[in-house]
This record gives sequence, C-alpha cells and structure tokens, in this order.
Amino acid sequence: MAAIESASGRGGMTVAYDDVLRWIRTFAAEVEASKEYLTQLDAAIGDADHGINMQRGMSAVLGKVDAAAGDQDIGALLKTVGMTLVSTVGGAGGPLYGTLFLQMGTATSDKVELGPDDWAAALEAAIGGVQARGKAEPGDKTMIDALVPGRDAFKAALAEGATFADALSRSADAAEQGVRDTIPLVARKGRASYLGERSAGHQDPGATSSHLLLKTAAETWGASEQAG
Ligand code: ADP
Ligand code: MG
Repeated sequence: MAAIESASGRGGMTVAYDDVLRWIRTFAAEVEASKEYLTQLDAAIGDADHGINMQRGMSAVLGKVDAAAGDQDIGALLKTVGMTLVSTVGGAGGPLYGTLFLQMGTATSDKVELGPDDWAAALEAAIGGVQARGKAEPGDKTMIDALVPGRDAFKAALAEGATFADALSRSADAAEQGVRDTIPLVARKGRASYLGERSAGHQDPGATSSHLLLKTAAETWGASEQAG
C-alpha cells in the first residue's frame, strides 16, 4: 500500500508524495470523464466551457507532474499544479483552481507526507486563496459551496475522532450535498450572476468540479487505508 503507517501523532494513515500524485491523476481522469457534464451545467448558467477549461488545464498538469515525479516535495508538486492551471486555463475557473492548488502547495511546503491535520490546513489555505481571489461567500453559488462544507465536515469528523479515511469520505459526502444545495441558489458571483434570478434551478458547475476534487481524494487515499 502506498499509504504509510505513521509512528507519531494520531497514528494511522498518512499521505505520501506518490499518493498526492495519484490523486492529481485521478482528478484529471474524473474531469476528463465529466467534461461533457460540466460543460452542460455551464451551458445552463454560464458559457458552456467549464468542462473544457478543466480538462485542458488538468491535461497540461499531467504533462508537468510526470516530468516532476522524481521530487518528493508535496508542496512543490501542488504549486506546479497551480501554476500550470493559472497559465493554461482562461476564464474564472483557471485562476481560481490555480490559486486553490498554489495555496495548498504553500500550506504543505517541504512536506513529504501529510497527516489529517496537514490536509485540514491545506483545505483551509485552498479556500482562503479562492476567497481572497474571488470574494465569494457560502451561498453565492460557486465552488465555495462545495469546498466549505467539505472542509467543515472533514474537521468535524477529526474532532469526533474519525480516521483520516472516514473524515475524507465524510468531507466528500458533505461537498456532494453542497453541490445539490447550489441548485435553488441565485448566483452572486461569476458569469452566472449576470442571469440574476434565472440562475436559480441549476446546479453550479464549479461546485460540481470541486466535489470531484474532494471525492477523488477520498477515493484515492481512503481506499489505501481500508485495503491496508
Ligand atoms: P468562466 O465563468 O470564466 O467561464 P468556468 O466556466 O471555468 O469559468 O468556471 C465557472 C465556475 O467558476 C462557476 O460555476 C463558479 O463555481 C466558479 N466561480 C466563478 N466566479 C467565482 C468566484 N468569484 N469565486 C468562486 N468561484 C467562482
Ligand atoms: Mg464558463
């Protein structure tokens, strides 16, 4: 198993460089598989490019991280992902996802493995970056509406003594509920906000891709612990 048993701290699973790389690759594959779906969601309240934007960005990321795979610094890996997204994806989604990964990379600088508290800090930093850049609050019908419930559920699960894998799974479930909860919302940020009340009744594409980000983390890392 790629997940390492930690001798210190909480014990249990930690996430190594190769696990983070597997997560990035799995997210890229999930984005590829969901490209049409994300684009359809964006067609309803945006400009029908979210799937294409994310697919183009993550495909560029795959080329970059393959080249960087000899390095074990998780922070450097995540910063590479962020810089690649910023430089290859236009619109709102690219810079926002770029910032998300850059801030995750800053929060995990020089780390060769992540424990649950490191992942909580990475999520915190990611959301801080997205909010600093996009100024969205929960309820504005954006990525934040998946990421914030995902972070809150992860931290709540840890506080209750859940394992890393369980906390990841609860985080992904909360993000999924957050996506469903975007449907009735009126968009207050981004392109969808131009529609005003007409944006209600549609699921937000960025929240949907952000759920995929947390879901693939839970699937990639949680499976190692359950199997091991
Ligand atoms: P664009 O809107 O430029 O076409 P995308 O289609 O790739 O970019 O991404 C749209 C998604 O970006 C939205 O569904 C929303 O979740 C997210 N988004 C837009 N503006 C913001 C913002 N200010 N803060 C957070 N997320 C935002
Ligand atoms: Mg768009």
